[in-house]
Amino acid sequence: MKKPPFIWLNITLFIATFTTAAILMPWRGFTHGFELTEWLTFVGLAFYSGLSITGGYHRLWSHKAYKANAVVRLFYALGGALALQNSALHWSSDHRVHHKHVDNNDKDPYSAKMGFWYSHIGWMLREYQASRYHDYNNVRDLQKDKIVVWQHKHYLLLTILMNIGLPAFLGWLNGDIFSMLIIAGVFRLVVVHHCTFFINSLAHIWGTQPYTNKNTARDNGILAVFTYGEGYHNFHHIFENDYRNGIRWWHYDPTKWLIKGLSYLGMVSDLRRVPQERIEAAKLQMQMLKTQHKVAHLPNAEEVVAKLQEEYELLKSYLLKYYTAKKALLDAKRQQIAHSELAEQVAELKANFKSQKKQWRTLQANYS
Ligand SMILES: [Zn+2]
Ligand SMILES: [Zn+2]
Repeated sequence: MKKPPFIWLNITLFIATFTTAAILMPWRGFTHGFELTEWLTFVGLAFYSGLSITGGYHRLWSHKAYKANAVVRLFYALGGALALQNSALHWSSDHRVHHKHVDNNDKDPYSAKMGFWYSHIGWMLREYQASRYHDYNNVRDLQKDKIVVWQHKHYLLLTILMNIGLPAFLGWLNGDIFSMLIIAGVFRLVVVHHCTFFINSLAHIWGTQPYTNKNTARDNGILAVFTYGEGYHNFHHIFENDYRNGIRWWHYDPTKWLIKGLSYLGMVSDLRRVPQERIEAAKLQMQMLKTQHKVAHLPNAEEVVAKLQEEYELLKSYLLKYYTAKKALLDAKRQQIAHSELAEQVAELKANFKSQKKQWRTLQANYS
């Protein structure tokens, strides 16, 4: 099959920025050195542009995981232009297709099944998408967002202002325009490009699948550090509307912390969270599948699977009972209804669930 034509604008851009970062950055570093303020500006702009992609383009606009006021949306729109990854409208359109048709080589714009190079950057180098979906009919809701439309319309100008104008201005303030353009302009752009590209490539290749094996997405705590918290991609692909990607408090997810922080300031609202029982149920189901697979070779596999199934069903029923009662207790508390009896019941159901979970773990450990 003949490959589609190259997109020379993208190729030139990627090569020019990469070589500048790879040659000019160390050269300037050795001959002149960089000041602390320049490094801090690099870090600041790297987080600003990266979080505008993950918090704005991704969780706000593509997935509607929360609502944000105009100030926050404008902040993201400018930061998104700084990240140079196309307009929020275009990016979200691509991304919604990615979720809908994940791993489908004909439809997923950055299908991981096409390999690392393609899903990382290759998909942007040729006209693979040309005939597909540039009517933006899967982002009609975003076309009602004035800031999204404004950014889309003035995208080129905004990227120039943010990528050249802003670092040049900051460099002028600091007394060295050229150094700032190299470190906070180009070097920062290349670093953020590849860190965010990892979400489409490595986060579909490297890591575990605790929640689902229906697609290639992986959970990876190390990758989360480089992707502003989006390394928990297996979770994300099954619960895409959750504003969190790393769900435990200790999971490194600065995008989640930013959104939560802004909600305390009243600047964002309606943060969506998947009910915990659905998360637990998905995890249990995967554990069941994995253990089933492990014991398949045993001579008494049928018997073992039957036992596993029995314990699994019991655990699921305890899970459901516990979370239903917990919800009822919360409701009672909210309505200020007497709830001491209910609280006792919840405590008992919780203990049942925990002990069954322990039993389940022991059983699994026996077969691993
Ligand atoms: Zn993905
Ligand atoms: Zn997504």
